[in-house]
Amino acid sequence: YSLFNFTGDPKLEYAEWESRMDMMNSWFSDMKKSNRFLYERESIDGSKIISQVVDPETGDIREMLNFASNDYLNLTQDKRIWEKVKEVAEQYGGGAGGAPLLSGTMRIIKELQEKIASMKAMEASIVYTSGYAANVGTISGLLGHKDIAIYDMFSHASLIDGSKGSNKKFFAHNDPVSLEKVLKSVQNKYINKLVVVDGVYSMDGDICNLPEILDVAHYYGAWVLVDEAHATGVIGKNGKGTVDHFGLEGKVDIITGTLSKSVGAVGGFVSASQKLINYLKYNSRSYMFSTSPYLPAVSASLEGLKLIEKNEAGQDKLWENIQYVKNRLLKAGFNIGNAETAIFPIIIGDDNKVKEMTYQLHLRNIFVNPVPYPAVPRKLTRVRMTITAGFSIEQLKHTLNQVEEIGKDLNII
Ligand code: PMP
Repeated sequence: YSLFNFTGDPKLEYAEWESRMDMMNSWFSDMKKSNRFLYERESIDGSKIISQVVDPETGDIREMLNFASNDYLNLTQDKRIWEKVKEVAEQYGGGAGGAPLLSGTMRIIKELQEKIASMKAMEASIVYTSGYAANVGTISGLLGHKDIAIYDMFSHASLIDGSKGSNKKFFAHNDPVSLEKVLKSVQNKYINKLVVVDGVYSMDGDICNLPEILDVAHYYGAWVLVDEAHATGVIGKNGKGTVDHFGLEGKVDIITGTLSKSVGAVGGFVSASQKLINYLKYNSRSYMFSTSPYLPAVSASLEGLKLIEKNEAGQDKLWENIQYVKNRLLKAGFNIGNAETAIFPIIIGDDNKVKEMTYQLHLRNIFVNPVPYPAVPRKLTRVRMTITAGFSIEQLKHTLNQVEEIGKDLNII
C-alpha cells in the first residue's frame, strides 16, 4: 500500500499529508504506551528465527520468535552463502566506488544480472541498490507526461512513488473488470499505458490474478509490470515467481523485484527485453546516478539465487510451514483474506484490538507487526505475521496456540 493517495494538487496533497501524519503520530505514541517494542525495537543478532531484542524499557535482552521478517528462506543466516561472501569481500573489497556508467560495473554485478534474467526468463536485467530504487527508477524512467501508470490499489508504495506528480489511476484490487473500466476511460488520452501489479501483495499475501490482468491490459495496448518482491523464492517452480507460477513466461513486459527478501541480501532489479533494459540504463535516474550495490551483497544475492534455483534453499520447508499456519488460522476462524503465501494478515478491523493482540503476543515473546489505519483501510486493520522456512512445526504450534488464545480473549474468533 501507499500511505498517501496523491491527487496531483499540491495544496490538497499537503493537507492530506499533514492530517495523516498527525493521525499516524497519535497512533504511534498511543502504541508506544502499550507496546514498547514497536518504536524502539533493536535487534542485536540480525534476522534470526529466535531474535535477540533489547527491551528499551529495562535494557534486558529478550529472545523473541521473529514473525516479522521477509527473509522467507532464512538465507541471511546461511553459512553456504557467507563462505562465498567472504571470498568476494577479499577479492573486491566493499563498495563499488562508482555508479554503473562510470566505474561501478564489476564482473560479479554482470553475473548477477544474467542470473536474474535467466531466472525470470527475460532477455536482460539491471540491478539497483534496493527494490525501492528499482521500482521508482523503472516507472519514472519509462513514463513521461503523455503516459499513464495504472495501479492495483494495493500496489506497494515504491511502485506508486514511481509516478509521483505524474499521471496515474488505480483499479480495484485484483479485479480485471475494474482494470478494464480504467483502461477504457484513458484509451485515447495517453500514449503509453503501464499496468502495475505486485506478484504477491505485501500486506495480504495473496497472489495477483495475473492471467486475466494480462489479457485485459494487452487487449487495450497497455504494458504490464509485475513486482516480484514477495514472490521470488516463494512461488513458481523453484521459486521463480508469479510469472512462472502461471506459466506466463515471455508474456509480461517488465518484472521488478528485490534481493532483500527470500534472496537474503539487499538490492533490487528489473528484467525486461534487452532494448528496454538498454533504455533504462540511460534513463533510469536511481540507476544512473547512484553507486552500484555493495559487492558482498551482490555476491550474497548471486549465491542465494543459485540455491533457490536448485531448490536447495529450504523452499519445501517454507511451504510445509505456510500450509500448517494457514490451516490452523483458518480452522480457528480468523479472517486471513485470500492469503496464500508466506504473509498472513490476521484481519481484525479494530485498532484497539490490533494493538492489544500485538501487545499480548510481544509479552509472550512472539514478535509480529501491527498494521494500523492509514497503512490499510480502517475495516482491514490487522496483525501481520510472516512465516519463514526456519521455524520448526513445534515453534509454529506454540505460536498458534498463543494466537488462538488471545484471539478468543479479545473476541476476534
Ligand atoms: N516491492 C515490494 C512489494 C515490497 O514489499 C518492498 C519492500 N518492502 C519493495 C518493493 C522494496 O524493496 P527493498 O526493501 O529492497 O527496497
